[in-house]
Amino acid sequence: MTTLSFEFFPTKTDEGTEKLLAVRDELAAYNPEFFSVTYGAGGSTRDRTYAIVNEIQRRGIAAAPHLSCVGDSKAEIRELLTRYQEIGISRIVALRGDLPSGAGLGSSELRHANDLVEFIRAETGDHFTLEVAAYPEMHPQAPNFEQDLENFVRKAKAGANSAITQYFFNADSYFYFVDRVQAMGVDIPIIPGIMPITNYSKLARFSDSCGADIPRWIRKQLEAYGDDSDSIIRFGEEVITEMCHRLLEGGAPGLHFYTLNQARASLAVWKNLV
Ligand code: FAD
Repeated sequence: MTTLSFEFFPTKTDEGTEKLLAVRDELAAYNPEFFSVTYGAGGSTRDRTYAIVNEIQRRGIAAAPHLSCVGDSKAEIRELLTRYQEIGISRIVALRGDLPSGAGLGSSELRHANDLVEFIRAETGDHFTLEVAAYPEMHPQAPNFEQDLENFVRKAKAGANSAITQYFFNADSYFYFVDRVQAMGVDIPIIPGIMPITNYSKLARFSDSCGADIPRWIRKQLEAYGDDSDSIIRFGEEVITEMCHRLLEGGAPGLHFYTLNQARASLAVWKNLV
């Protein structure tokens, strides 16, 4: 069975939240396993993430809050875990997080995602299904690919149930990563994170910071379209659909869409696949 999930980020205004919930309702028709909601490292969106998670959960399809550990104390994390348990949340995306540039890891009590996974297991046992992040093209701060693989294995062994990848545009990097991890004795499902292509300049900026490679043939084509957003969207849909086909045919257990709080681009790809 192919699992489907969608990711949102917390909005800042009531109007934004209304729009987000309308997008949630549109996507709900495709029966995703869960909707995840990101968290601002250091707790900058703590209440907004909670409020949106609460409302999504209330509407009937599971919500999975992201929870990061840098900049949050154990006591703050413990309190959030309790609040999530109280409203019936059973899945968490457990992350280290990124503090604003220059802040490093600060004086965080939990410094890596494996510490957070261990902490959640110690506090709440098997209550939560825990997702962690995976980087087929290597986390940008990792000293090298091998150590990044070992660190991924470390958080799987700490008690993660499954993983969601950083987005990528090269299916081979995903297959290679999964093969390497399995050879290291870890067989948790690793779900590709899919970023639909709708806007070149934003995508290029974001990809630089998170270490996702935009292959030259895609970059050049997108650059050539300039301001022609219809062509960018059409080409993006074709490229991402083709990659998702390959991923699913090659054994990827599901897809997790980075929706950027929009339904159209993710749904266009998903409808091409089913
Ligand atoms: P880790 O697994 O801790 O890895 C971070 C770095 O430290 C890597 O280089 C790794 O090799 C190294 N490392 C890991 N463990 C150890 C160890 N024990 N000792 C030494 N080195 C180690 N960010 C947010 O702020 N909010 C979000 O909601 C959010 N959601 C995300 C969702 C997904 C699916 C993904 C892929 C990323 C998300 N991020 C989010 C971004 C993420 O927080 C950053 O990429 C962050 O830099 C790393 O988080 P991590 O959980 O992968 O960290």
